[in-house]
Amino acid sequence: MEELKLVLRAAEFAADRHRTQRRKDAEASPYINHPLAVAAILAEEGDVTDATVLAAALLHDTVEDTETSIVEIEQLFGHDVARIVAEVTEDKSLDKAERKRLQVERAHHKSQGAKLVKLADKIANLRDIATCPPAGWDLQRRRDYFSWSSKVIDGLRGVSPRLEAAFDRACEARP
Ligand code: ZN
Repeated sequence: MEELKLVLRAAEFAADRHRTQRRKDAEASPYINHPLAVAAILAEEGDVTDATVLAAALLHDTVEDTETSIVEIEQLFGHDVARIVAEVTEDKSLDKAERKRLQVERAHHKSQGAKLVKLADKIANLRDIATCPPAGWDLQRRRDYFSWSSKVIDGLRGVSPRLEAAFDRACEARP
């Protein structure tokens, strides 16, 4: 029961922090749809039952994209959740190309929990780009995102055969 409470608290916190944000798709979907999708992919398609990983999935973009610090996540959700969130948070002081390069380079070194969240995050993003792409993304940009995501995921394979298969199926929709 404590585990269920942790996951629900994470969902509520993420919904609050992302409340004014929208996804980049043409319909400008509520941002919270994305972390919810990532957690659902882990639970439903990856059979992940670890509440720490599911809570981290719900919170995975709060530090990168809202006014939330890792210290705050640690105080509210504990060290293990905070560690995973920290591992999947990019350093926005670096330029975009460098951040993309680091994701490929560092995928292999991440913890099991961070690898799972990363994998589900990429599955969710590929599906979104295939079905309702960000407004203004031309064909080349969408294709580049698919190629780069494959490189990131190649670096962390071995963590979940089921999620890796789901990723490979998502890749088949490459534009
Ligand atoms: Zn994400």
